[in-house]
Amino acid sequence: MLNWDLEFKSAALLADTLEEHGFQVQRGIADMPTAFIANYGKGHPIIGIMGEYDALPGLSQKAVPTKEPVIEGAPGHGCGHNIHGTSGLGGAIATKIAMAENDIKGTIRFYGTPAEENYGGKLFMVRDGFFDDVNAVLSHHPNSWNSALIGSSNAIKSYKFHFYGKSAHAAGSPELGRCALDAVELMNIGVNFLREHIIDKARIHYVIQQGGTQPNIVPEYARSWYFVRAPEMEQLEQIYQRILKIADGADLMTGTTHTIEQEIGCHNVIPNKQLSALIVANMREIGAPQYDAKEIQFSKTIIQDITLEEKRMMLQALKHPQWEKFMDVTLCNTVEDPWDEGIVWPSSTDVGDVSWKAPALEFNTTTSAIVDPFHSWRTVAHCGMSIGHKSLIFSAKTLATTALDLLTKPEALKKVQGEFKHRMKDKTYKSPLPADMKPPHDLARKQAESYKPPK
Ligand SMILES: [Zn+2]
Repeated sequence: MLNWDLEFKSAALLADTLEEHGFQVQRGIADMPTAFIANYGKGHPIIGIMGEYDALPGLSQKAVPTKEPVIEGAPGHGCGHNIHGTSGLGGAIATKIAMAENDIKGTIRFYGTPAEENYGGKLFMVRDGFFDDVNAVLSHHPNSWNSALIGSSNAIKSYKFHFYGKSAHAAGSPELGRCALDAVELMNIGVNFLREHIIDKARIHYVIQQGGTQPNIVPEYARSWYFVRAPEMEQLEQIYQRILKIADGADLMTGTTHTIEQEIGCHNVIPNKQLSALIVANMREIGAPQYDAKEIQFSKTIIQDITLEEKRMMLQALKHPQWEKFMDVTLCNTVEDPWDEGIVWPSSTDVGDVSWKAPALEFNTTTSAIVDPFHSWRTVAHCGMSIGHKSLIFSAKTLATTALDLLTKPEALKKVQGEFKHRMKDKTYKSPLPADMKPPHDLARKQAESYKPPK
């Protein structure tokens, strides 16, 4: 069986290190053993820095430029969260040292936020009030460029549809059966017709998680799992109401019944241009990392199978107004102005819910090649060597300088908060989690136990 408890080790190492540096650590918060907060200082302003440290299944990879797992099938940092958590740690400790040496008032708070990839640990921390008193929140995420983007992301909700019918001999007495799989399929067909009549930016995806046992038994139970995404939660809810009617229709057609289990959901990100401007100015002052010939060659080897046409398509999808300039670039070594004002990126993140509670921004630094699709072995390799490590130090410095700006320049914090208040004036936050939902503690263990090595 594979290791499933690595997040425990990472969370403990981060929390222990903060404690050694004089932070007050509160562990196991929001009913999650790997979630924690660490405070240094007293009173307001309270500036948060978030860190993630979870990995992705099956992406184990050595820090070499060809696909070579450390342990076949084991998890790997395909989203660079080995750098996410540690850049946040570096930023928080550097801020603390500057506060202590210069007698700076306020609080620097590190948020240890678990399970970003599969269960959105921040959602539970937000629901339990851990972001209620914070004045601004900074976060860093590895990417293929250096910038602090100001676009938004899709809101998302996740639902499981459980259909119940009656089993029967599929050949001998089919007239006595009511097929739950038929209901799942008819619902999917209905939703696929619905797609034409919803807003462009919405996304609906599903899988059939259970469709029966064998063909000669009419399935009495079947289950589909849906993600629904839209730029605003209200738009998402409107689409969901129409999906509910389609599910009812599937029951009518097949003589089945169904129940719905809501899983997690995330809000869209509320952008903050003032925060972005502070971050980008600090990035420019620090200076983006530069790369030697060996590093560029490492990166080139990793992406050698990506064609120029694929690179062109990926860069166009980036929507950078001067995307052509990156056609000849392997590793971005410049600081880019944010170029995505008004754009809603199709993916979703639990940073969205934090950004509804306080001004928040997750900026990016170059950790990988410009065409690395992420969530792949390529990312893991980059994140394990000097390209990733340069990104870590650069982002830690950016976090610390920006946190110090917010702690020492009241007018800067006021502008950041003013923009937040303006953007939130007609909005009220409601947790997308079902009220009684508890964090699924055994998810990683179950995933590791069910892993079977490839033959
Ligand atoms: Zn990530």
